[in-house]
Amino acid sequence: MTTRRQFLAASAAFSIAPALRAAETSTPNPPPDPIIDIHQHTHYHDRTDLQMLAHQRAMGITTTILLPAGRFIERPSTHAGKSNGLAARCTGNDAAVEFAKAHPGEFLFGANEVTDLPEAKSEIEKYLKLGAKIIAEQKFGVQCDSPESERLYALAADYGVPILLHFQEGTYNSGFQRLPAMLKKFPKTTIIMHAQTTWANIDANYDWKSLYPTGPVAKGGLTSQYLADYPNCFADMSAGSGLNSLLRDEVHTRWFLAQHQDKILYGSDCADTLGRGPGCQGAGTIAAIRKYAASKAVERKILFENSKKLFRL
Ligand SMILES: [Zn+2]
Ligand SMILES: [Zn+2]
Repeated sequence: MTTRRQFLAASAAFSIAPALRAAETSTPNPPPDPIIDIHQHTHYHDRTDLQMLAHQRAMGITTTILLPAGRFIERPSTHAGKSNGLAARCTGNDAAVEFAKAHPGEFLFGANEVTDLPEAKSEIEKYLKLGAKIIAEQKFGVQCDSPESERLYALAADYGVPILLHFQEGTYNSGFQRLPAMLKKFPKTTIIMHAQTTWANIDANYDWKSLYPTGPVAKGGLTSQYLADYPNCFADMSAGSGLNSLLRDEVHTRWFLAQHQDKILYGSDCADTLGRGPGCQGAGTIAAIRKYAASKAVERKILFENSKKLFRL
């Protein structure tokens, strides 16, 4: 028999339950997971600062690192000026610093200069002293093991910042097959690999022809080897080449993200104004990482924690 007291206790508990449920649903949604984007640019294909800001917020980015261009100059390493502005009309150090200072906490900046200019080191050092988080984006017509490149690897180690290289064989930072010598010679320098030659080389059968190869991937390409063999080697998932590498072979992608979960960093490097939808490759890359990462923990490392640690944020 239910006593009156038991009845009251039971009905009280019962009546509290809906109130608790209501309280739960009326709690504001928890903030979305933070995402660090290590690869964006000011004035990218003429995008305005306001459009860039809206783009990053639409993608759900909580911290963005702006990578400046070098100075505008005509010489062989800028392909007689064609590669000025990172070949995409991007602006330089001062624009990145100014934007980052106007958006503290949300935007950070890198330092950059044309690799083989005599004043490259002093120019980059000036911005490292102002708080630049990275030397980037190095996208000039030099060999990746040129003496001028080596000077910047040493500078990166001196300031404890990574250096990010756009690898596009024959055009920018050529000599990808010789990168291990640099990783060995500069063990205190963190080198972040980026762009077409990096992502084509996830495939052990890469033929060095197409910059955007398609189809099945054989495990163990150079990129995979470098990530596995050198603690100071990382990869930036950004750009069409990064997204292409994620979408071409689902089985390989799941393996690759699991295998290198501590060495891959999210970057967008996209120049659209929306920050969402089919025209936004950066949003597509976030979706692909979420889809193919083996667990939430792996997704969090790639979209956030690896960069938080590497850049000491
Ligand atoms: Zn870029
Ligand atoms: Zn985009």
